[in-house]
Amino acid sequence: MSEATDILFRQACEQAVAFRRTLGARPQHPERSCRELLACIEQSFPATGCSAQEVLEELSTWASPGLHTTAGPRFFAWVAGASHPLSVAADFMTSAWGQNAGNHVASPAAAAAESLCASWLLDLLDLPRTASVGFVTGATMANFTGLAAARGHVLRRVGWDVEAEGLFGAPPISVLVGEDAHTSILAALRMLGLGQDRVHRIATDAEGAMLPFAFAHTARSLDGPMIVACQAGQLNSGAFDPFPQILEIARDKQAWVHVDGAFGLWARACPTRNELTEGLELADSWSTDAHKWLQVPFESGIVIVRHAEAHQRAMATTASYLPPCEDKERDPSHFVPELSRRARGFALWAMLRHLGRDGIATMVERHCRFSQQMAMALSDEPGIAILNRVVLNQVIVRFGADREPVTGDRLTDLTIARIVSQGICYVGGAEWHGRRVMRLSVISCATEEQDVKLSTNAILSAWRSVREDAAENGAVADPPPEPEAKMRSYDPEEVNI
Ligand SMILES: *Cc1c(COP(=O)(O)O)cnc(C)c1O
Repeated sequence: MSEATDILFRQACEQAVAFRRTLGARPQHPERSCRELLACIEQSFPATGCSAQEVLEELSTWASPGLHTTAGPRFFAWVAGASHPLSVAADFMTSAWGQNAGNHVASPAAAAAESLCASWLLDLLDLPRTASVGFVTGATMANFTGLAAARGHVLRRVGWDVEAEGLFGAPPISVLVGEDAHTSILAALRMLGLGQDRVHRIATDAEGAMLPFAFAHTARSLDGPMIVACQAGQLNSGAFDPFPQILEIARDKQAWVHVDGAFGLWARACPTRNELTEGLELADSWSTDAHKWLQVPFESGIVIVRHAEAHQRAMATTASYLPPCEDKERDPSHFVPELSRRARGFALWAMLRHLGRDGIATMVERHCRFSQQMAMALSDEPGIAILNRVVLNQVIVRFGADREPVTGDRLTDLTIARIVSQGICYVGGAEWHGRRVMRLSVISCATEEQDVKLSTNAILSAWRSVREDAAENGAVADPPPEPEAKMRSYDPEEVNI
C-alpha cells in the first residue's frame, strides 16, 4: 500500500471515529438543510482536480452540518437501524476490498458470504430451507423482486410466459393489497406493469391490518391469476395482517402471497414476539431489511422466495462472458435486479455472527419494551393519546387528543416541531386514518434505557409548552363540546365490501 493510501484511510477512520464519538451529545437533528448546504458549497465543476487528502477534508467540512443522527441513540423517525459499529467496520473493509458480488468467479468470498447469510436467515426466520434468497438495496427492491417472481409464476400457471412475452396480451392478474400497505408495494406494482391503481384495496381495522372478511369477500369474487401483498409490521402501527385466514383463502385461489416484512419479519427471530407472525411461513415470498432491525448500514434488503425457479427466471442475467447457470455455485446476481453489486454479504454476515440468535432476540425484545415504556409514560399525560396497540416497536401519538380534530392536528404538528428543535431526540409525523400524528419507531441498537427516559421527558416538556402557549396567547381555538374519537373505530356494519 502506498503511503498516500495509508494516510487517506487513517484520515477517513479518524473522521468516522470523531463523528461517532460525539453523535449522542450533539443536537439530534441536522444543523443545515440541503438548500443551506448547497448555498455554501462551490457549485461550479472544477476544471482541475485537488489532492485526495484535501478532498476528504473538504467533504467532511461541508457535509458534517448536513448529517443526520440516524445512527444516534435518540432517533425515532421513519424506521431506521443505526449502522452498528461492527457492521460499519465490515463495510469499510467491503469498500476497501472492492469486490464485485455479481457472481462467484468475480468474488468467491462475496458469493460465499451471501450463501452463508442466506441459510442462516432461513434458519433464523424459520422459513422454508429450500427457499432462494436475494440481497438487494432495501425492502422496496425486495418487494419488487418478490412480486416479479409472483407475476411470472401465476401467469405461467395459466400458460403465459411473461419473461419471454411481457405483459402484452397476457391474462389479467388480480392484485390484492391492504388499505394501509406500504407505498413501496404500489411502487413495485407500478414498475412491474401491474399498475398501482388497478389493485383491489382491502379494508383494514383500526390498527391497519386487513379485515379477514373483507379480504375473503374480494378474493372469492375474483377468478384467474392472483397475487396478494400482505404485511408483517405496518409502517406506523406495527400491525400484522391476519396471515392464517388470508393464506387459507389464497391457497384455494392458487394465489401467490407476498409478505412485506421490512422490519416486522424480525419479530419471527424473537420468541416473545413471533406469535405475531404466525402463519406467514405458508406464504410464497417475503421481504425484509437488514438496514432496519439488524443494524447493518443502508442498502441492505433481503428477498426470500419459496419457488427458487420462479425467482431465478424473473431475475437471472446470463451471457457468454458470465459463469453459466448450470454451475453448481450460487451466483448472487441470479436473485436480484442488478448485475455488478456491492458485496453486501460481509456486513450482514458480521452482524449475524456478532449477535447470534440470542442477541437478535434480545435486541428486538428490548426495542419492543422501550416502545411500551414510552407509550405508557406518554399516555398518562393529559391531552396525549396513543392511537395503536403497541405490539411491536411502533407508537402512534396524538397531541391535543381532547380537542377538536383540526386543533389536534395543529397541536400535534407544533409539538413535533418543538421536539425536533429542542434536539434531545428526533421524531417524525404522519397522517394516520385522517389525523396528524407523531410516530415513534424504536429500532436503534444505540438506544439505551436512559435515552428512552430522556426522550420521553423531552416529548412531555415540548407538549406542555405547546399546550401552555396555546392556552396563553389563544393561538389555538378552544375545544368544541364533542370529544374527538381516539381511534378510527370500526363497525362491521359500516365497512363497505
Ligand atoms: C421501510 C419499509 C419499506 C421500504 O424499505 P426500503 O428499505 O426503504 O426500501 C417497505 N415496507 C415497510 C413496511 C417498511 O417499513
